[in-house]
Formats: sequence, structure tokens, C-alpha cells
Amino acid sequence: MTEILRIAVQKSGRLSDDSLKLIKECGIRFDNGAGKLRAPAANFPAEILFLRDDDIPGYVEDGVAHLGIVGENVAVETARDVDTVYRLGFSKCRLSIGIPRGEKYGSIKDLHGKSIATSYPRILGKYLQDNEVEAQIHEIGGSVEIAPSIGLAEAVCDIVSSGSTLLSNGLQEVETIFRSEAVMIASRNLSDTQQSHLDQLLFRIKSVQAAKN
Ligand code: ATP
Ligand code: ZN
Repeated sequence: MTEILRIAVQKSGRLSDDSLKLIKECGIRFDNGAGKLRAPAANFPAEILFLRDDDIPGYVEDGVAHLGIVGENVAVETARDVDTVYRLGFSKCRLSIGIPRGEKYGSIKDLHGKSIATSYPRILGKYLQDNEVEAQIHEIGGSVEIAPSIGLAEAVCDIVSSGSTLLSNGLQEVETIFRSEAVMIASRNLSDTQQSHLDQLLFRIKSVQAAKN
């Protein structure tokens, strides 16, 4: 049984740079040459795995990776059996409802009986249910904002940071349903040794963050 910590980070995307920066700021050295999918750490009992973010919670649940850095949006949507051990404060974004610009909007109840395109059917479904709204959820993998203009759905629910993607597709942001930031998730089946490596890592992360504030 391996005692090192396998840490899964996004291979390339909005989480990648800050995830690697955090690991380096914790004093962990590794060589992430272009195209590498795994990199052993030189001075900490860890190995970094480079994966698609959506796959990370599943790998952590299965124990293939012991730790992972993902957006909370992905952690919640994938609903895997993992622990969220730390909120990392970067990659902040929100999951919002958008409707065609100029359409009136009073509350989420206005979406009753409508169709909504999203890549987040679970988070959206729960929000609708909590608000007793029955709407049809169209799950699509990406380019969600195009859905209303091609007649696929009447509204969208997608990740927003500045709102410019919504605007450029003729949509207005009317309601935020979830706020997200990067989180560290951990497997529930760590050995005692792995748990103590994790405690040490979390201690270093807290020190790095305290030094910044
Ligand atoms: P992958 O190819 O790994 O599946 P992706 O296209 O799903 O990548 P990204 O667009 O890189 O993912 O976003 C990764 C995460 O970064 C999102 O799940 C979210 O938590 C966060 N994020 C998304 N958009 C923004 C944004 N505009 N600003 C800040 N953080 C964001
Ligand atoms: Zn993804």
C-alpha cells in the first residue's frame, strides 16, 4: 500500500495555475514539464496528477487520487463521496440564471413551466425544488449560452464571472443560485500516514494564506 499522497489538479484550465502555485508555495517541488500527466514531488511524500477537473472527484472517491483541487461547483455537482477539507479562495465564480435581455423577471417562480439549459442539472434541480418551481432541465455539456437563441431552451444556468458571455449572447443575469471557489477535496479512506501528510499540507496552506493577509 502506497503511503504517498496523490494530488489531482486540473491539467489545463482556470484552476491550473493557482493550484500549482499553491502547491509550490507550500514548498513542494516537482517538475511539471509540458504534457506530463504525473509528476513526483522532490521533497514531500506526494505525486501530482494532471486530469480534467470533472474527473477529479471520481478519482478521489475511488482512492486513485487522495486529494484533489476542484471548483466547489464541480465538487457539488458530481456528488461524489469525498470530504471537502479546505476552501482555497481562488477561482471564485457563481452559477447564475440568464434569460433573454429585455424579458421581465420578478423571481425564480417566473421560470415555472419553462425550459432551462445547463451543465449543472443537479445544483439547478435542487434550487428549483427548494423554491417549488417546476421547470424542464436540458442538460448540455458546454456552450450553454447559445441555447435560447437557437430555441433549445428559454433560459440558461451557467458559470458567470464577469457576465460578458451572457451579454454577448443577448442574455441578462437575473439570479445567482450558487457561489463557488476552489476547494481541496480528500478521499475518505486515507491511511494514518496519509492523513498526517495531509495535516502537514493543510498546515502549510494555512501558513501561506496567513502570510498573505
Ligand atoms: P476541463 O477541460 O478540465 O474539463 P473546464 O472547461 O471544465 O476544464 P474551466 O473553464 O477551466 O473548466 O473552469 C474550471 C473551474 O474554474 C470551474 O469549474 C469553476 O469552478 C472555475 N471557473 C469557471 N469559470 C470561471 C471564471 N470565469 N472565473 C473564475 N473561475 C472560473
Ligand atoms: Zn471541466
